[in-house]
Amino acid sequence: MILESLVVGPIAANCYIIGDESSKSGAIIDPGDEADRIVKRVEASGLRIDFLIGTHGHFDHVGAIAPLKKVFGCDFLLHQNDLPFVAHSQASAAQWGFQIEQVPDPDRTMAEGDLLNLGTLEFKVLHTPGHSPGGICLYLSSENLVFAGDTLFQGSIGRTDLPRGSMDDLILSIKTRLYTLPDATVVLTGHGEPTTIGDEKRHNMFVQG
Ligand SMILES: [Zn+2]
Ligand SMILES: [Zn+2]
Repeated sequence: MILESLVVGPIAANCYIIGDESSKSGAIIDPGDEADRIVKRVEASGLRIDFLIGTHGHFDHVGAIAPLKKVFGCDFLLHQNDLPFVAHSQASAAQWGFQIEQVPDPDRTMAEGDLLNLGTLEFKVLHTPGHSPGGICLYLSSENLVFAGDTLFQGSIGRTDLPRGSMDDLILSIKTRLYTLPDATVVLTGHGEPTTIGDEKRHNMFVQG
């Protein structure tokens, strides 16, 4: 497996480049900004990018989709419940004082239980609404990894005060979709440092009971 991470944009989102070493099939998860830097890292990795994936539709995670689609010409994947965020991505970024190119509609939508393959790597889509209604996590069981977007952070959880957020949904998603994964699973978060499912179960004060 090839795995690279970069912190991009004014809200310091984690963007991940992941792929299969033998087939060179790769994907970019949460390309929120700084398309040029991402392209350079992809070139250095030797991967061919087959998918651009948004864990959810907030602009800090999909803000560089438009320029990257022009470079890689591949499909953009998102959960359908977050289509409204993408449709208004340029306007919502502007509200926060940031400029992005309007994000195109996804070429494909992802739903609970979908499997995505990059060569021999198989990712399972976990629908984890709460931070946004179309939030997903990508579970790679063969590598003990889950890409958690803004659902779960080290010692914290995604905010739910943004439009269409729900604290009840978020806690349910974490308990039923993430805390049911093996404790050793490494959680690659949408912001900040990685953690593990076991550490969060033991120490995360926001998810109890
Ligand atoms: Zn978000
Ligand atoms: Zn975010």
